[in-house]
Amino acid sequence: MSPTERIARDQPSTGETVLSVSGLRKVFGANEVLKGIDLSVRRGSVVALIGPSGSGKTTVLRSLNGLETPDAGVVEIGDVTVDFAGKPGKREIAALRDRSAMVFQHYNLFPHKTVLENIIEGPVQVQKRPRSEAVAEAESLLSRVGLLAKKDAYPFELSGGQQQRVGIVRALALRPQLLLFDEPTSALDPELVGDVLTVIKELALEGWTMVLVTHELAFARQIADDVVFIDGGVVVEHGPAGQVLVDPREARTRQFLKRIL
Ligand code: ADP
Repeated sequence: MSPTERIARDQPSTGETVLSVSGLRKVFGANEVLKGIDLSVRRGSVVALIGPSGSGKTTVLRSLNGLETPDAGVVEIGDVTVDFAGKPGKREIAALRDRSAMVFQHYNLFPHKTVLENIIEGPVQVQKRPRSEAVAEAESLLSRVGLLAKKDAYPFELSGGQQQRVGIVRALALRPQLLLFDEPTSALDPELVGDVLTVIKELALEGWTMVLVTHELAFARQIADDVVFIDGGVVVEHGPAGQVLVDPREARTRQFLKRIL
């Protein structure tokens, strides 16, 4: 069993809801970006968020991970529930943040830290786990994605695809209940996309619960159980990937798919 499989299997069995979002609202100035988003994700499933640029997909992910504070809505991840209309405190938001981990479009590695230091930062500094344990786990995860030899390298010494695989390992090392991917391959040169998608696919097969913002519809078709089409800050359609991507019910979804396929 691979190390990530072991972590995934430490989690309770598939079927129960691990993420539940209701009535999520966010306003930036006069721009109402999220107009009441509802979403629910079962443990062990993969949900792809698709939709036009600017429709609010990234803001949804960032709201789940405490990087944006929504104006209203209830977010439940595992055993933590936060009602944003009730002006939650820092500790509540920190507890919510701790349940998920984000893989960013531009990797967001610390440039002045080595690969290993980037990965153990969260487990050691935030989660207060023993350094030796965090290092052993980081090394095992790095070897899993073929990058153990790069553990003492700095991000600038790696290709984009390698940096993104480190970004994924950094997220896994936090042992989250939910992995969030924000267009993880859209900043990569085309020849580097495959390796990153392969890692994400393996994680899906291992049973990780994932929410993925992506423009890679063929990839979404391969790995997503459900697809959510968001437009103008609302969920227009949510259903099984095969149905939403191949035979959508809503005219807006059909128009969007026609435009980008
Ligand atoms: P998507 O991921 O679907 O492309 P985003 O969630 O990134 O959409 O953005 C939705 C809208 O919110 C856009 O109009 C964007 O300009 C706006 N927005 C996002 N973040 C901010 C911010 N920090 N300040 C102001 N406007 C923002």
